[in-house]
Amino acid sequence: MGRHPLNPLVVLGASGSIGRQTLDVATRIGAPVVALAARTASDTLLAQADAHPDAIVCVVDPGERVDEFQSRLGDRFHVGQGAITEVAATKDSTVVNGVVGAAGLAASLSALYAGNRLALANKESLVAGGPLVRRALETGDGELIPVDSEHSAIWQCITGESPSSVARLVLTASGGPFRGFSQKQLAGVTVEAALDHPTWSMGPRITTDSATLMNKAFEVIEAHYLFDIPYDNIDVVVHPQSIVHSLVEFTDGVVKAEVGLPDMRKPIQYALTAPDRIEGDHPPLDLIGADLTFEAPDRIAFPCLDLGYAAGRAGGTATAVLNAADEVAVQAFLSGDIPFVAIPDVVGGVLDDHEVFEPETIEDVRGADRWSRDQARQSCERIRGG
Ligand code: MG
Repeated sequence: MGRHPLNPLVVLGASGSIGRQTLDVATRIGAPVVALAARTASDTLLAQADAHPDAIVCVVDPGERVDEFQSRLGDRFHVGQGAITEVAATKDSTVVNGVVGAAGLAASLSALYAGNRLALANKESLVAGGPLVRRALETGDGELIPVDSEHSAIWQCITGESPSSVARLVLTASGGPFRGFSQKQLAGVTVEAALDHPTWSMGPRITTDSATLMNKAFEVIEAHYLFDIPYDNIDVVVHPQSIVHSLVEFTDGVVKAEVGLPDMRKPIQYALTAPDRIEGDHPPLDLIGADLTFEAPDRIAFPCLDLGYAAGRAGGTATAVLNAADEVAVQAFLSGDIPFVAIPDVVGGVLDDHEVFEPETIEDVRGADRWSRDQARQSCERIRGG
């Protein structure tokens, strides 16, 4: 194995699922870690700071552990959202953005305008801020490589192809824990059941979004912004085994797919090394006897998918509103305040009331986000109050 010139890594959302797996990959392939960032001051983050003693450690809101972290980490310790935006601009680095939520957008823009490689796992950067990220890519020297398994699959399929030869993208969806459920069955599902994802191990918000298919709706929007493909040419197919990670159909009818056992460390590693590859430590794929099935998504039982298409086609601030309303609705569901089936009702109602505009600045996106959260909270209150 030859020496690969790996950029130093800035890992945002270090203590989360993507962050922890990124650090696994970094250790294995020998990528230096120059910064770790997280929302809260956790023991996981402290252990990571010990394992990477040269890394700066940023915490958005350290709360009552601020003094403890200060004395443990000294000069390495930085506090606040601004510290994360700043560290994302570390020269000549690869910024892995595994932040959960709309807070990830500022860091993504900061990384791109600094000319860095952005390994993007934060969905909200493209869902909420797609037009801004597009502009940053057009005007800056930065590059964006997707980490999400579906988009990594598409990225790998189209590498080396001419953009005009792409006819259609097909995103695969596991269907989540409630695949095959009727609307009636969905009415009674619990938080525990929603958090029990069949193939991927992820955080509570994205796992709930997988159960409603909102996650797939977000991925359709991400694909639109990443690959500049019209929504009419982006399809979703349910593939419960999660072996085929997505497909690309070309104008000559040829279809390419990226196939493998589900393991986020593979798309993470590819985002760090692309277009090169470094040896992995994954079990070989054995397709003998594998039963791979594909079915159409149930758009009636899972209306979030079409809410995503509608918001995507509306463009502008509509997708930021979609994301923010969903975040509030999912939190309300996880807190036991609204039933699972109310999530699309809340989000759809907020979208209906939104007057879409084209965001020019991050403040425009934040404004739409705040408005959406307010509306969604009121809607959840009304549902809870019965
Ligand atoms: Mg995905």
